[in-house]
Amino acid sequence: MAPRDTYLLTDVRTRHHDGLVDVAVEHGRITAVGPGLDRRTPAIDGRGQTVLPGLVEPHLHLDKAMLDPGPDPDAGLDAAVARTAERKSRFTPDDVRARATDVLRRAHAHGTTRVRTPVDVDPAVGLSSLDVVLDLRAEWAGRVELQVVPFPQEGIASRPGTRDLLVEALRRGADVLGACSYAEDDADACRDHVRDVLDLAQHHGVPVDVHADFAAGSDDPRHDLAADIAAMTSAAGMQGRVVLGHATTLAGLDPDARGRTADALAEAGVGVVVLPPTDLYLVGASAPVRELRAAGVRVAYSSNNVRNAFTPFGTVDLLDAALLLGHMQGVDLDTLLDMGTVDAAALLGDDHHDVTPGARADLVLLDAPDAATGLLDRAPRTPVAELPTGASRR
Ligand SMILES: [Zn+2]
Repeated sequence: MAPRDTYLLTDVRTRHHDGLVDVAVEHGRITAVGPGLDRRTPAIDGRGQTVLPGLVEPHLHLDKAMLDPGPDPDAGLDAAVARTAERKSRFTPDDVRARATDVLRRAHAHGTTRVRTPVDVDPAVGLSSLDVVLDLRAEWAGRVELQVVPFPQEGIASRPGTRDLLVEALRRGADVLGACSYAEDDADACRDHVRDVLDLAQHHGVPVDVHADFAAGSDDPRHDLAADIAAMTSAAGMQGRVVLGHATTLAGLDPDARGRTADALAEAGVGVVVLPPTDLYLVGASAPVRELRAAGVRVAYSSNNVRNAFTPFGTVDLLDAALLLGHMQGVDLDTLLDMGTVDAAALLGDDHHDVTPGARADLVLLDAPDAATGLLDRAPRTPVAELPTGASRR
């Protein structure tokens, strides 16, 4: 059943109003928020719970979730890539569909309404996983909006044939172009990789999502490219349309170098998505969120990988990632809530994701007296559009 798109949500709390308010929704958009709104539509009783804009996962791998993580959890990033590549060679469309659907069900149950998903594309797996995820994008429309990102995890120059697959993925309707800026043999080849993806994306009119700088410091020049990527973004005219995932290298730079990089990212409008579960498991740190935000960089967080060699744990609850980040870096609850909704949506191209007139109404009820308590409790969440309507109170 398609979720309803016109209704009045009554008696809810928001993060920005005192007391109980109603939220009017028409044709999937919020038209009014305030106390005692007129009843002109079917009503949904919010029962005093807290309404949030839907949670947003700006970086969640569906195709390689729920795999055996293997016997060697301390082996690091290269081993995780290799182990997953071996497992990938045995993927079938049915297998990918079953695991991806499991992840989407969990995300949806935890109040996530939008997901950007990188899908591995290489000569071995071809576009078979991508085709499955494009089908799921249609199947889940109205519940979880998917942005599909063909992703060259194993490189472009180092895996001949991958570039043609990326172009074909865009032709088949992928939303965003992926890059993996540490996946080539040396730093120059890595820069060429990013430049090529930026040019391709510019040509095809899509944004870019880069796995970048996934190390503990600047020892490997392939993992110290964020400032270069910022410069290349501006040179390609892609300001505001590029997001870096991970960027953990920043955490290990000296303060001056870190500040210069943060300023470069801010100036080029390059966003950063930290992946606390994976960052902590494989590197021991995430990019410095408060420092990046203070420099003017848009930052969000996401679950990234779930139950595989990159991250052996996970329930696909974005609030787990939020609280993990809070533990690691002392980010306050209000900022965590902004990052998981407003900021993450902005990185996906929607600057108006909030409980406010004009915004798209992918609303979620949090069974808590306020949003901060709901975050701390990881309170149960329900998509508002799927709740039953009832009789008018007034
Ligand atoms: Zn990733």
